Amino acid sequence: MEKVDYIIVGCGLAGISFCEQLKANNKTFVVYDDKSQLSSTVAGGLYNPVVLKRFTAVWKSEEQLALALPMYKAIEEELHVKIDYKVPVYRKFASLEEQNDWFAASDKPRLSSYLSTKLIPNTNSFLNANYGFGEVLGTGRLDVATLINAYKKDLKSKNRLKEEAFLYENLVTNLEGVQYNNISAKHIVFCEGFGYKKNIYFDNFPLVATKGELLKIHAPLLKIDYVVKGPVFIIPLQDDIYYVGATYNSKDTTPGVTEEAKMSLLEKLDTMINTSFTVVDQRAGIRPTVKDRRPLVGLHPINNNMYVLNGLGTRGVMIAPYIAKKLYAFIEEGAALDPEIDIRRFKVFKNK
Ligand SMILES: Cc1cc2nc3c(=O)[nH]c(=O)nc-3n(C[C@H](O)[C@H](O)[C@H](O)COP(=O)(O)OP(=O)(O)OC[C@H]3O[C@@H](n4cnc5c(N)ncnc54)[C@H](O)[C@@H]3O)c2cc1C
Repeated sequence: MEKVDYIIVGCGLAGISFCEQLKANNKTFVVYDDKSQLSSTVAGGLYNPVVLKRFTAVWKSEEQLALALPMYKAIEEELHVKIDYKVPVYRKFASLEEQNDWFAASDKPRLSSYLSTKLIPNTNSFLNANYGFGEVLGTGRLDVATLINAYKKDLKSKNRLKEEAFLYENLVTNLEGVQYNNISAKHIVFCEGFGYKKNIYFDNFPLVATKGELLKIHAPLLKIDYVVKGPVFIIPLQDDIYYVGATYNSKDTTPGVTEEAKMSLLEKLDTMINTSFTVVDQRAGIRPTVKDRRPLVGLHPINNNMYVLNGLGTRGVMIAPYIAKKLYAFIEEGAALDPEIDIRRFKVFKNK
């Protein structure tokens, strides 16, 4: 029987962020991942402290960025990969009113350090932006797919990764912890994203699917090295390749790409650029979202030693390191969980 401090189910942004807490605190662990969910893998990876529809600050953006950026930097250094690209985000203005709203918002206390007060005129003839742009400061793109690949490779080399489905019915719980096949652990943390659907312990979760689809295009003449936010995001990668996305669909929970999403993205893109391009790829994933837009963190109501880290929603890159730290402090240091993120704010957990 192998003994570890933790079993983690899921190696997306949530699982990786929790592993980082465990590593920092010299805890032993094993991670299960079966690649059944692709939300983190396909994500555009943007981190941006501002809600660009309404010009408001993202919940806890300062605290989130203060933890996330050093965590990703530490991973870059440890695994010798480049994952954090500092890239500006330009919010395209659709009208003079929007320009005015931007400048009014840039005066507000939590926004003044994020919204540049300089109006950026459009100098690229292939972009349609008569009213120019406002620049969001402190933004970037995390190459999440590279992060996950490198992270899993490292875990595998240390015998910490099991590339297989975690079968919930094989889990045995007892007062000291949990047992799964030949592994006994003090704690188990479920980080399965929308894969929670198969979890018999947390199966009545207030979590909903928001499917997202993203296109990859090749636009050789566009030549932009900043993200443009209009009806969709245009995110520069390399060699004239851009992500265009994303869609938000709460009705479709199927994993595959759809023609409908492609058409919708192309229609929106058409209003933003006027140069030829080809679509080279299309990806889809299911975002684990919660109606109150706060994550789901905490302890199972019946089974001690069983925890959940989920509900990362549309901003997993920023929020995952923050809530992973909160959950770790809750388990190991007895720190109280913020009621805003604690799963106990919902009284719907089933006892199996
Ligand atoms: C198209 C799209 C674009 C996005 N763009 C951005 C963006 O620009 N910025 C941003 O911050 N966020 C973005 N997001 C949101 C972000 O991707 C999510 O918040 C985040 O990926 C959720 O991470 P997670 O670890 O909770 O879940 P997931 O990424 O779904 O990871 C869960 C993992 O658990 C594994 N798993 C599940 N069940 C089992 C089981 N029984 N056994 C073994 N393994 C299991 C899955 O295989 C998976 O690897 C985007 C999402 C989509 C879909």
